Amino acid sequence: MKNTLRIAIQKSGRLSEQSLKLINECGIQFNHGKSRLKAVSYNFPAEFLFLRDDDIPGYVEDGVADLGIVGENEMAEKAKDVLLIKRLGFSKCRLSLAIQRDVEYTEPSFFRNKNIATSYPRILNQFLEDKKIAAQIHEISGSVEIAPSIGLADAVCDIVSSGSTLLSNGLKEVETIFRSEAVLLANHRASEEKKDLIDQLVFRINSVQAGKGNKYILLNAPEDATEAIVELLPGMRSPTIVPLAMSGWNSIHSVVQEDQFWDVIEKLREAGAEGILVVPIEKMIL
Ligand code: ATP
Ligand code: MG
Repeated sequence: MKNTLRIAIQKSGRLSEQSLKLINECGIQFNHGKSRLKAVSYNFPAEFLFLRDDDIPGYVEDGVADLGIVGENEMAEKAKDVLLIKRLGFSKCRLSLAIQRDVEYTEPSFFRNKNIATSYPRILNQFLEDKKIAAQIHEISGSVEIAPSIGLADAVCDIVSSGSTLLSNGLKEVETIFRSEAVLLANHRASEEKKDLIDQLVFRINSVQAGKGNKYILLNAPEDATEAIVELLPGMRSPTIVPLAMSGWNSIHSVVQEDQFWDVIEKLREAGAEGILVVPIEKMIL
């Protein structure tokens, strides 16, 4: 459809839930159709295709979908000609080389002439070429981590997040070769109308992400501490100061970045702030 964005997301897997959550937080709603392969939004000009993540970069390149959400690892491995328009901050993981736990490891030259099982031959090959290491890549599509114990390979190159899967298969992680998170991909040849819709969607995503990265903070302070506290709370433009019913006291409201939060709270208490309330922000329009 001409003025409807087609957005490809993973049908079921580690990206699905968070992709759907993001779309929902952007205020885009739809009912799953009977087929569960396609759904049309009733409050935003978008339709959703539910696919295997492997197919998403290719569909976006071909223009079957205008946008897609996949792991950066999948995007790099498929090496399709698509635009990365936004990192989405979820499904964070890394692609790492791992070997059997009892084998000694010092440096990447360990892998020379070794047999490495992976589902990511392109990314692995790039790493080996950069390090000028000749090794055999054994491509398998799943259960990579059991390859060493069944004698299929000397090492694996696989997705890791906590490392517990490696551990339970007697492996240890020795090199990280790629860091990944979910990304929003776009087709290169979107029409002007579609570009407008993509901008609207990206604006919504930015507002959701900014809200998540910040907290709304309210506190009480005696008048003589107000100036010092305002210095600590830059806010979006500047903090709001409202007098309390009790004379000599103010309520101060502002926005604090999540990553600076604990640091700021300590300083606020030292400066005389009391009754501090911290409230999540659903969306923040910058
Ligand atoms: P599909 O059936 O769609 O092909 P899949 O089995 O290839 O799915 P999943 O295991 O669902 O893929 O993982 C999808 C993406 O989620 C991966 O490509 C990676 O970017 C990310 N991912 C994988 N494992 C983890 C993990 N343990 N923690 C966080 N993110 C992960
Ligand atoms: Mg897949």
